[in-house]
Amino acid sequence: MDIKQASPDQLIEFEQQLSAEYYELQAQNLSLNLTRGKPSAEQLTLSDALDGILNGNYQEETTDTRNYGGLRGIMGARQLGADLMGTDVENTMAAGNSSLSLMYMVQLNQYLYGCCGEASAWKHLTAPKMLCPVPGYDRHFSISENLGIEMINVPMTNQGPDMDEVEHLLQSDDEIIGMWCVPKYSNPTGTVYSDETVDRIAALGKIAHPSFRVMWDNAYAVHDLVAEAPILANITERCKAHGTEDSVWQFASTSKITFAGAGVSFLHSSAENMGNFEQLLGVTTIGADKVNQLRTTQLIPDMQAMYLHMQKHRKILAPKFDIVLSHLANDLGHDFAKWTKPQGGYFVSLDVKQGLAKTVVELADACGVKLTSAGAPFPYGKDPDDTNIRIAPSFPPLQELEQAMKVLTTCVKLATVRQLLVDKS
Ligand code: PMP
Repeated sequence: MDIKQASPDQLIEFEQQLSAEYYELQAQNLSLNLTRGKPSAEQLTLSDALDGILNGNYQEETTDTRNYGGLRGIMGARQLGADLMGTDVENTMAAGNSSLSLMYMVQLNQYLYGCCGEASAWKHLTAPKMLCPVPGYDRHFSISENLGIEMINVPMTNQGPDMDEVEHLLQSDDEIIGMWCVPKYSNPTGTVYSDETVDRIAALGKIAHPSFRVMWDNAYAVHDLVAEAPILANITERCKAHGTEDSVWQFASTSKITFAGAGVSFLHSSAENMGNFEQLLGVTTIGADKVNQLRTTQLIPDMQAMYLHMQKHRKILAPKFDIVLSHLANDLGHDFAKWTKPQGGYFVSLDVKQGLAKTVVELADACGVKLTSAGAPFPYGKDPDDTNIRIAPSFPPLQELEQAMKVLTTCVKLATVRQLLVDKS
């Protein structure tokens, strides 16, 4: 039925039919979860060989990985990180299991101590602000919120953040000190930043506040769902061309390559930034878990091994995305919502009609399907249009995903028809 053309009587009938379907689903007492983008057990099993892989040999050249020391990590892991991010090994660090904690430390360092001497600390500014492409990654926004840094929404386009808006904002406010970016398979829209966007981001250091820093979180660098994967332009090279190497911090990790809770994180920036950051890092730790770095590089010694390993992830993940996308296309259609069709990453971003995201999430919850809270992919948890829902298909088994999508699509239709009835009354 074309709901836009439907008469009030037809809508009432449709609402009754959808309500009946909804109550039938509710009676199944489901308990399903589509919230966080965690790898499934089957994916984690791909890296089970990590356990015991060292077979008693803890040596990496002259380094006994069991011992203290080596703030930048072992050379093999740094090289892997550099190849993954497209950076130079010299200024690439391999660290502990979480790139997110590196991001927090980098932000904290700039806030408290400054990038270039105490006077440059963000805490001295009246109202330091971070640009946040939306929808984006909620945990990035939590970091800024935790440090009391104001967040400004910037719309995402299918080329990446709206760069006209970014440049305009930078020119009109001289206390914007950074921007969050997930440049490849952005969380949650799956957007891959275009070459032009990457170049314009690299050039921002020329017009922005001197301590402006892009947080380039390349968390999904090799997480392709298709054989012919898009290629992200190299921001290090673009920064070199613009002479803005200090303006970008790059992050990645093996969290969604090996074990999510026991991966290796990577960090890259200019020599000056890295030296400055190490002063703070060195206060908090003598060094990261080098044994884990060594076993990770034994499992995945180079990028060729990396791509082979990621193909195995793809075989498990792609059918799950297919289920989500086919339910959206077949059960919903574009009268009710629009959604992204990612070529990689961990999410599908669903936009329902304005003002309905919270209602849909509540309806699904009451039917036994947990979704990420509406608003979560926005700073302060506030989606100004109440329209976006993040779908994370990686964790549940296929059959559970089928059931969860049936519930979700029913809830979207029910909420939409109910809203139309209210509008028409
Ligand atoms: N960045 C993004 C964009 C993510 O989606 C995630 C995981 N959901 C992370 C970082 C977390 O990475 P890590 O495990 O290395 O802290």
